[in-house]
Amino acid sequence: MSILFDDFKSWKAYCAEKDVPLFQPVMEYEGAQKGRGEAEIRQGLMQAWVVMKEAVQTGFTDDMKSRSGMIDNGGKKVKNSPITVLSPEFQMLIARALSAKEVNACMGRIVAAPTAGASGILPGVLVTLQELHGVSDEKMVECLLVSAGIALIIEKNASIAGAVGGCQAETGAAAAMGSGALVYALGGNITQVFNAVAITIQCMLGLICDPVAGLVEVPCVVRNASAAAIAYSSAQIAISNVDSVIPVDECVQAMGEIGQSMETKYKETALGGLAATLTGNAIAKKVLIHDIEIIDEEGNN
Ligand code: SF4
Repeated sequence: MSILFDDFKSWKAYCAEKDVPLFQPVMEYEGAQKGRGEAEIRQGLMQAWVVMKEAVQTGFTDDMKSRSGMIDNGGKKVKNSPITVLSPEFQMLIARALSAKEVNACMGRIVAAPTAGASGILPGVLVTLQELHGVSDEKMVECLLVSAGIALIIEKNASIAGAVGGCQAETGAAAAMGSGALVYALGGNITQVFNAVAITIQCMLGLICDPVAGLVEVPCVVRNASAAAIAYSSAQIAISNVDSVIPVDECVQAMGEIGQSMETKYKETALGGLAATLTGNAIAKKVLIHDIEIIDEEGNN
């Protein structure tokens, strides 16, 4: 099997025909690609899951201040805030997504699922899922396989990279992965899982990639939190049998079409959007001078 599936429709048809759960063909694909058995694949995914959980914890315990100064312990601040705007569970979801992504901004260990820029979304979504619903680690491995299948199809028909398709492709894909995994873990059927993916994409479409100073910090970290929230809202909508109306494959096509027509300045070049604001430019200048000073110091050593 050189590719998994061309689209979500084929994935669904395959599972219906063979009467297998959604994760099964992804497991087979991974086995064929890497020449590994099921036990080894499960073990590798379990390690990834442990790293995701650790990233959330690291963000809560270690000092999360980035070299640029733009990131300053946001996850901890949200976790410890005495003001809860919605519910303690929502507060923790946001705190966890921020926390894991801040670990990436501070050069810590994360799982790039699907990319480093979006590395707070799945940990935020899945750690919260486990906490709220007592989902086992073994089931989490299946969730990761379902997420991977979702990412593979998005990558094939649109993109998962900000430099290619804007932030909709990066945080959007991660949110779709999280949302589909949520519905899968909570016992949703395939239609509901794919509706969750479709609804998530509908909510993320058009988002540009505009990292301030070219660093994956602002707005990336807060977008990880909002994407995690969208993953939850979409999962709630889909598992309640609300139809996405536009089928998931067409949503992915729309994402690809928008990504292709997006101007280069909105594709990780730091030439547009927030990166091109007065403050964004001033920060970029400061970061550049700082880096030149460091290079100079190293050069003098
Ligand atoms: S703004 Fe760009 S760099 Fe930042 S998370 Fe989105 S896609 Fe990644």
